[in-house]
Amino acid sequence: MSVAVAPEFNARVRRNEPLSRHTSWHVGGPAEVFFNPRDAADLAAFLRTAPPGVPIQWIGLGSNLLVRDGGIRGIVISTHGTLDELNRLNETTVRAEAGVACARIARHCIRWGLGPAEFFAGIPGTLGGALAMNAGAFGGETWEHVRSVETIDRAGRTHTRPRGEYRVGYRQVTGPAAEEWFIAAELSFERRPGAHAGEVRTLLARRKASQPIGEWSCGSVFTNPPGDHAARLIEACGLKGFRVGDASVSQKHANFIINHGHASAQDLERLITHVRDEVARAHGVRLEPEVRIVGVP
Ligand SMILES: Cc1cc2nc3c(=O)[nH]c(=O)nc-3n(C[C@H](O)[C@H](O)[C@H](O)COP(=O)(O)OP(=O)(O)OC[C@H]3O[C@@H](n4cnc5c(N)ncnc54)[C@H](O)[C@@H]3O)c2cc1C
Repeated sequence: MSVAVAPEFNARVRRNEPLSRHTSWHVGGPAEVFFNPRDAADLAAFLRTAPPGVPIQWIGLGSNLLVRDGGIRGIVISTHGTLDELNRLNETTVRAEAGVACARIARHCIRWGLGPAEFFAGIPGTLGGALAMNAGAFGGETWEHVRSVETIDRAGRTHTRPRGEYRVGYRQVTGPAAEEWFIAAELSFERRPGAHAGEVRTLLARRKASQPIGEWSCGSVFTNPPGDHAARLIEACGLKGFRVGDASVSQKHANFIINHGHASAQDLERLITHVRDEVARAHGVRLEPEVRIVGVP
């Protein structure tokens, strides 16, 4: 049975929206119902009327998501291009909504003389995704800067929660409630009047030399195991260039998997499984995917 939404939202939801349009790997079957709220109030109204029990999946810029070819049953809420307010609250505190692109946070903090925020420029996702993942780059991590978050639950109720209510680890964040999603955060930085855009350009150029930036990927596929690097283990198995369908392990960085244009989610998932099995066999190390794999095969 199809997901019923309240009449006032009927014309605004997209049904069977291909999620390949919304992920950086450019794969993924359709979302049964795809909703892009206008703002937080609109989102709350939508959630209040959403049928109970229907699964809800959030998506930011889809830069860390492998959506399977069968797509997602239920509702997908996209923050892309919305929930995009970004303000400086005082000398050192910034409030950003969940749909703000991380690169924009980096740019504004530099302009405001705040830091260290340059690392946000290396994360091609939204703040919501960065909060969910504790995304990090160039030695910085999202939750090092979180003072509090604003969340919304299934009933459309909002909550303000201090950082202390979350368990935060390497690319892992566990909150106090299962079905609660980020709509904004207060981030604190130091006064860094000297920080400037040139530093970001240098960091990004260094990264471009070692990673296949510009190709269709989701960044690092696996988290690094304690004391080692997933890329080193994968490369030592001779897997650079290994191909399944139109997906292959990057020649430039072994922890990246590239969609060369026509890969399916199944190609990507098979390749992920193969890499994982080979590394376990050769090194006795079980790699854990950093990418979130969702949807039906
Ligand atoms: C080229 C490339 C380089 C990358 N480099 C890095 C890097 O250096 N460091 C790094 O950490 N990551 C990196 N990534 C991965 C990715 O950019 C980050 O994980 C990013 O934080 C994902 O944000 P997103 O908005 O795209 O989230 P999505 O991929 O859309 O979603 C990721 C997860 O977050 C959840 N989510 C999204 N929004 C919300 C919300 N508002 N509330 C609750 N949950 C939410 C989703 O449900 C999903 O589980 C890279 C990706 C690419 C393509």
